[in-house]
Amino acid sequence: MATPLHIVLMGAPGAGKSTQARLLKARYPLQVLSTGQLLREEAARQTALGLLAEAYLARGALLPDEVMVALITERLLRLPPEQGFLLDGFPRTLPQAEALQQLSEKLQRPLTAVIALALSEQEAVRRLGGRRMCEGLGDPFPVHIEDRASVDACLRLGGRLVQRPDDQPEVILERLRTYEAETRPLLEFYEQRGLLFRISAEGSPEQVHQAIVAVLEARLRPQA
Ligand code: AMP
Repeated sequence: MATPLHIVLMGAPGAGKSTQARLLKARYPLQVLSTGQLLREEAARQTALGLLAEAYLARGALLPDEVMVALITERLLRLPPEQGFLLDGFPRTLPQAEALQQLSEKLQRPLTAVIALALSEQEAVRRLGGRRMCEGLGDPFPVHIEDRASVDACLRLGGRLVQRPDDQPEVILERLRTYEAETRPLLEFYEQRGLLFRISAEGSPEQVHQAIVAVLEARLRPQA
């Protein structure tokens, strides 16, 4: 049986985490857990968690660590043994990262790699400001309004283009600030553990994907 992959995908908002998650899911037997997406679905369904999440989502603020750790724990416990996981948007704080270390030890699912997508703040603002979610064609996926081919394809297939409320300029800046203050310190946490791989996110989605695959394949190769 192939070794399941256990990946954490990090990067500031706009770095392309969900796009890369989608490409990796098409290539490997992975369950993608996108915490932001899970919370938006809960909010749309008006569940107890969704009602709690709404105010945080609107402000671009982080939900309490206990809530997020409980959500991820519950999802990882349900994962079939042969299936790997890719975490998109978790962990975002040091207590979340510490909780994940404990959980992955307990479940005997050591992290394969933490991929950090690096992007300038200027480019992140450009991408988020022009981002629309294509909804109605399965899992929502991001397109940029300047990418006419993707916009047309979404509409032609019957999808709808929707702007995430937290992609408004003031909220974008708040999310970037939160990333710098709360999440960037995790890079050092994972670097110290030899798990961090930094990849430039300035290239095309396919170029970034190939760079991630190269890291993962090297990690899977048995050490000489
Ligand atoms: P994302 O789709 O990853 O940009 O996440 C959207 C929003 O969901 C964030 O701005 C937070 O409000 C919330 N969120 C997602 N993941 C987490 C997390 N690990 N910890 C706390 N809040 C989160």
